[in-house]
Amino acid sequence: MAIERTFSMIKPDATRRNLTGAIIKMFEDAGLKVVASRRVHMSLREAEGFYAVHKDRPFFGELTEFMSSGPTVVQVLEGENAIARNREIMGATNPSEAEDGTIRKLYAESIGENSVHGSDAPETAAEEIAYWFAGTDIVG
Ligand code: UDP
Repeated sequence: MAIERTFSMIKPDATRRNLTGAIIKMFEDAGLKVVASRRVHMSLREAEGFYAVHKDRPFFGELTEFMSSGPTVVQVLEGENAIARNREIMGATNPSEAEDGTIRKLYAESIGENSVHGSDAPETAAEEIAYWFAGTDIVG
């Protein structure tokens, strides 16, 4: 299985409740390594750019306002099959559909305020990592 890198974000609902360490521990316990990390309070413009793929969706305004409402932690996770593995650890978008033991089942407050983001494919992982990090920020 390939060693991959994926982009992960701890969202403002989770930083507000001081869950950063608990969430990072879940990634580390599952064998993913944090190879870059930064705390960011993004602007509305940065949130709109990051989520541009969703710009025509009805929840776009609410999502970008929420994402710029407080600090987030942007990070790069590395490990075997990291993209799919991260999605498994996160759980389904809607916490009421998330599997037991996943981050969203444990911590998400709603379908919008769902504690974590994770890339869904190699192309989006590369784009999302490049949106927040320079190559030299990543230390494997
Ligand atoms: N979202 C929302 N309402 C919805 C669907 C999604 O507010 O009905 C938000 C939610 O924060 C989600 C993000 O938009 O995490 C991106 O949606 P996506 O379908 O890509 O889910 P994810 O990949 O985050 O599981």
